[in-house]
Amino acid sequence: MVFSWTPHRFSGGALALDVANSVILRFDAERRIDRYTDPAALETFAAAATRFSADRDLFGPLEPVAEPNRPAFLSLREATDRHFRAEVLGQPSSGHLADLLDAAATVIRRHPARPARTPLDVATVRSALMLATFSEPQRLKICPNCQWLFLDRSRNRSRTWCDMTVCGNRAKASRHYRRQKRELTP
Ligand SMILES: [Zn+2]
Repeated sequence: MVFSWTPHRFSGGALALDVANSVILRFDAERRIDRYTDPAALETFAAAATRFSADRDLFGPLEPVAEPNRPAFLSLREATDRHFRAEVLGQPSSGHLADLLDAAATVIRRHPARPARTPLDVATVRSALMLATFSEPQRLKICPNCQWLFLDRSRNRSRTWCDMTVCGNRAKASRHYRRQKRELTP
């Protein structure tokens, strides 16, 4: 089956977080899926991010990551997830920040200063650096259902779920199921 990048996959609210969220159920060893292991999905992510990512207007049309640059891009993705996840969990680490900056520098060195069109890996660096210096870090959250990182862009910072229509409803359904089960159990 061909995987397609739907708007839900861009619930992160920032490109760097959408990239980090390309690993589904990151902490569930049995069900974890890395969407980028399929080269076709990694290729089409750039076009989908151009359409759906919340900070798309900052970058314009994104070029896919060239094959030789993919390992550096994946290291950037992992460093992004580690750094921001630790921040949200209240466990900031200068080591994680240094790793993120190292990974960002490695990506940047592989490109000319002003590429004609922005490659996805360069845009991800810019998005991650903006997030790292963001003035409202309390807007950075982790979805309690799927563990994705997201930036809560709502006016009153009231978002709980990465995507209410997916994770919010799943949580509601499972609460309902548990309640019913309790009622049925003598
Ligand atoms: Zn979620």
